[in-house]
Amino acid sequence: MPKKASLPEYVYPCGKKFKVTVGPIKCENTYGETYGIEKVIKLSNSKDKSEYTWQTLYHEYLHAILHCTGMSQLLSEEQEEALVVAIEENTFHLVDCNKMADKS
Ligand SMILES: [Zn+2]
Repeated sequence: MPKKASLPEYVYPCGKKFKVTVGPIKCENTYGETYGIEKVIKLSNSKDKSEYTWQTLYHEYLHAILHCTGMSQLLSEEQEEALVVAIEENTFHLVDCNKMADKS
């Protein structure tokens, strides 16, 4: 699957504008973080995680959808993570990364 060379500056889960940033992530095993209220998706700049950057963006996009739809509030952190991982791992191969920044 051809991947876009550069990451989008913004993505639009549920039509909401989320800024995509790349930088250090405090937690060692974490590849990305989503800040729902601030509408920011932060991706790790660690080189050993770079091959997973697009999949991580998709993963965080799914978290953002759960935030925007209010589903996050119905789930524990562990439940949300398990749900996101299950969907991410089984659908990422279907995702056209060139469309990740599309608005709908
Ligand atoms: Zn997650």
